[in-house]
Order: sequence, then C-alpha cells, then structure tokens
Amino acid sequence: MTASVGTMLARAEALAAERGVALTPLRRQVYELVLKAQKPIGAYDLIDAMEPQRGARVPPTTVYRALDFLVENGFVHRIESKNAFIACCDAGKSHESQFLICEECGATLEIQGRELASSLSASPPAHGFQVHHQVVELSGLCAGCQKRHREA
Ligand SMILES: [Zn+2]
Ligand SMILES: [Zn+2]
Repeated sequence: MTASVGTMLARAEALAAERGVALTPLRRQVYELVLKAQKPIGAYDLIDAMEPQRGARVPPTTVYRALDFLVENGFVHRIESKNAFIACCDAGKSHESQFLICEECGATLEIQGRELASSLSASPPAHGFQVHHQVVELSGLCAGCQKRHREA
C-alpha cells in the first residue's frame, strides 16, 4: 500500500460524503484498523484491537455490520479463504480483483483487472453461465519469504 492511513481515511470520508452514506466513528475505526493491519485481519482480531480504545468489547454482529458496509462501499475486500478482510488498494472504485496470499507471512497482494474473469467466461464450459461473484485467491510464498528460505 503506497498511500498513508491518513490519506486513505480522508479519501473514504470524501467518498462517503459524495455517496450520502455515513462513515460513522465505529465504521471509521474498523477501517483504520484494517488499513493498519496491512494483511488480512479477521473480525475477532478487530474486536480485540478495538477493546482498549473503546473500553468495552464490541459485539461481533456490530463489527460484521461495519465490515459489510466497508465491503459494499469498496473500501475493503473480503479474503474468503482466510475469513478475513484487507484494505482495497484503490478504494471506492468498482473493480475485479485477484489476490496473491503468502502462506507464511500472510502478505497479500491485490491485482486488479478483468482479464482473468474475461478469459474464464470465454472458455466453453462457462458458456451460458452468469457469474455473480468471483473469488480468485492464489496461495504461495511471497518473494521475501522465498529469499529467507534460500538464505536459511
Ligand atoms: Zn480493490
Ligand atoms: Zn511471505
């Protein structure tokens, strides 16, 4: 992620205002924690991280509702294979994404683009199939972890 957490939050505020949706303090806090995590973070890790700031445990349904809002508005993506969430690298723009997930350190890269979806739907078995939801998550070892293995 190149933009700072502050920049991303300011962008989210502006987008929410533009769309007439509310980035409430709780939604903002969840988003900030997802941005700071820099790798997929689950709802229960979010609840743990929120507790000291709020002085009480936030109910899971509340956190899931905030996450739903953030996913619907394109600020975060859900990583299905980890049941976790990661900040979008291009928040607020509608796009197809693929994810490369490191099995070892959890580093997750978002690759935007419709090419993969288009080539899949162009293949004969997919003819006549209407795609509603696409999940492409590739797991493996990131360059950093491969390097550590070679040097070990
Ligand atoms: Zn994205
Ligand atoms: Zn790694």
